[in-house]
Amino acid sequence: MKIYVCVDMEGISGIVHPTQLMKGEAMYEEGRRLLTNEVNAVVESLLQEGVREIIVRDIHASGVNFIPERLHPGASYVMGGTLFQERFPGLDHTFDGALLIGYHTMAGVERAVRDHSYSSRHFTSLKLNGRPIGEIGLDSLLLGTYGVPVLLVTGDEATCKEAANELEEVTTYATKVGLGRHSAILKSPVKVHEELRVTIAEALKHRDSYRPFIQSGPYELQVQYMSTDLADAKYCDGKQAIRLDGLTIRVMDDDLTSLLCRAL
Ligand SMILES: [Zn+2]
Repeated sequence: MKIYVCVDMEGISGIVHPTQLMKGEAMYEEGRRLLTNEVNAVVESLLQEGVREIIVRDIHASGVNFIPERLHPGASYVMGGTLFQERFPGLDHTFDGALLIGYHTMAGVERAVRDHSYSSRHFTSLKLNGRPIGEIGLDSLLLGTYGVPVLLVTGDEATCKEAANELEEVTTYATKVGLGRHSAILKSPVKVHEELRVTIAEALKHRDSYRPFIQSGPYELQVQYMSTDLADAKYCDGKQAIRLDGLTIRVMDDDLTSLLCRAL
């Protein structure tokens, strides 16, 4: 069995504040430890279930958050830039499933830790073919282009709710309950790692029944930016990319990866 693991940071157990999430901030090293320990718990759980090939993608910010010398030896790790032209390096059609670990809700959701859509500083909302979407939905669609189903999504309770709404066929696990953007009721990371073992075993049982998340093109992504200068920086030809108002651009494309590269 081959499993691809995409790991963000906001939904990791014990993470609740921006100083744990950003390089150079006071609590960032603590955040990295929490992240790396949770990755190791996931890898150990997958190995116990008989998974023979595991690729783990560090997908938060610039993709260099794992502490390399602490990483479990039983997996391969992808670190570095997170550009859309290769969001999931090493992924192909031979993988049996993907896990989204430590994810967060789309921008604008209440009682959700660090709700955002790819960037808190750039985008206030994304809509794909008229429907609001965040990283869970778009990453699942990208994985779906390889025929790979998402088996498990972890993050705060609001993240689990978004995943269940979006994907329908998916196992979810809540690491915390968001009280606001920077507050939550937390479980101990030790407890989370124990419960992840059980949850991952359960999720893997569905690898043949959960279907890949697929939405065929053509695609239309409507992006609302935080400020007009961000929208100004995007080239709009009036056909495949249209400026709808000061803050909003609509981009059309037949290919999902190309769409995201052009729009975000
Ligand atoms: Zn992140």
